[in-house]
Amino acid sequence: MPAKKELVKKGKGMKDILPEECLLREKFVDKAKAIAEFYGFEPIQTPYLEKVELFTSAIGESTDIVEKEMYNLKTKGGEKLVLRPEGTAPIVRAYLENGMHTKPQPVMLYYSGSFFRYERPQKGRRREHQQFGIEVLGEEDSIADALVIRILFAILEEATGIKSFSLRLNSVGDKECRKNYQKELTAYYRKHAKSLCKNCERRLKTNPLRLLDCKEEECAPIKEDAPQIIDYLCNSCTNHFKELLEILDASGTPYYLDHHLVRGLDYYSRTAFEFVSEEGLAFGGGGRYDPLAEIISGKELPGVGGSIGVERALETKLEKQRSESAQKPIKVFFIQLGTGAKHKSLYVLEMLRKAKIPAKHSLSKNSIKSQLAIASKLGASYTLIFGQKEALENSIIIRDMETASQETVNLEKLTDYLKKKI
Ligand SMILES: [Zn+2]
Ligand SMILES: [Zn+2]
Repeated sequence: MPAKKELVKKGKGMKDILPEECLLREKFVDKAKAIAEFYGFEPIQTPYLEKVELFTSAIGESTDIVEKEMYNLKTKGGEKLVLRPEGTAPIVRAYLENGMHTKPQPVMLYYSGSFFRYERPQKGRRREHQQFGIEVLGEEDSIADALVIRILFAILEEATGIKSFSLRLNSVGDKECRKNYQKELTAYYRKHAKSLCKNCERRLKTNPLRLLDCKEEECAPIKEDAPQIIDYLCNSCTNHFKELLEILDASGTPYYLDHHLVRGLDYYSRTAFEFVSEEGLAFGGGGRYDPLAEIISGKELPGVGGSIGVERALETKLEKQRSESAQKPIKVFFIQLGTGAKHKSLYVLEMLRKAKIPAKHSLSKNSIKSQLAIASKLGASYTLIFGQKEALENSIIIRDMETASQETVNLEKLTDYLKKKI
């Protein structure tokens, strides 16, 4: 007897995006693209697989991402690759590798796609995330930071339906001023080493800036009184940040200064920002990454960018859509009866498609009763009834579902007739 077959299910932390959510995501990306393109951004797609060294050098060995969150794989040829965990390092690599310094600067790019983090799948944590992001490469001026923030702000406002979110902002300084700050921060935390959580004990040794990321209650009071980076910024970093705030003020973009916002990656400098929901959930962010190009190539290339987590940004919209269980009524439903009519039905539907008249149908059903039932369930205003006689005579019946009145029109006149009605 053959063994009982069991379905091979999807991998841990993976998710099928079903039609309803797919459509929402596509609409979101279309709107986001339109906003980015208005401001002169162009699309780019980098590979899903990159060499592991790109991230170990760019992001830093002692970060959570590199230590435990990367999907590593080895090809048959022995090449070590990873599924991209984030979008910025690949885009900077692509800029350098494709000689984009010869184009007019700055180069402004947008992207959309999946990113992968090998997170513990508890609490429904996903391992594949869709992001929409923008990058401005080759510009040091604060106006580039403001542009990135303003665009992401507009996308969140106009493409997600979220009204209550806040923009949190900080400057993490550059290599020089951060060195002093890190020293002060480490000294301060050492004094409290005994009351820190396990993670912070480790961060203190490997990546002190990340101490400010801690969400544990036991560390909260220590974090509260920690020295603030803003007090350690050098003159040029202070001016860069001041100008950014002035531009945001002038453009009517509200923000909060958040001294705990540090983005613990080695390649960040100066501007750091995050978009946070009322419940404190971050669904997007970014910052300036002037040191990144030098870390991965030895070349200097200032840059700033940010991204939005598509799934999180659309969560409320999706829930709302699900709770409004009643479907939007449709205008036209096409019904066919009999073999001759069924065979000709795609011809009629093509006529409607070319005339841009949206129409639903249920071509695999044969009885008029079952097709009418679907039409009324969908709330169709008009049904088109196409039977044997109509197929022979090149005509079609239009039934007004509300009044139950019917009219027969010539097939050639159908689309003009419908356009007038709807
Ligand atoms: Zn902690
Ligand atoms: Zn500085």
